[in-house]
Amino acid sequence: MPWAPIVIAEDHCKGCELCVTACPKHVLALDRSRINVLGYHPVELTDAAACTSCAFCARVCPDAVFTVWAAPREELQR
Ligand code: SF4
Ligand code: SF4
Repeated sequence: MPWAPIVIAEDHCKGCELCVTACPKHVLALDRSRINVLGYHPVELTDAAACTSCAFCARVCPDAVFTVWAAPREELQR
């Protein structure tokens, strides 16, 4: 499985889009093809390679949906 900079606990997402607005790389969007256990379209990461692990999404999310990982050393050297 390729390394991903964030983990999304999508069943906690209420689709408010605060994170979508806050992401400076514009790599978050609601997945309108799916509905989570709460009945909302959950957020998804649309481009893992463009995510910088800035954690702005985690700071604004009211429901602690995100876990953000710093890029491993080998990823930073690419
Ligand atoms: S860590 Fe930063 S770049 Fe990555 S999805 Fe969150 S806000 Fe966007
Ligand atoms: S801020 Fe949190 S609850 Fe709102 S859409 Fe983003 S992940 Fe979902």
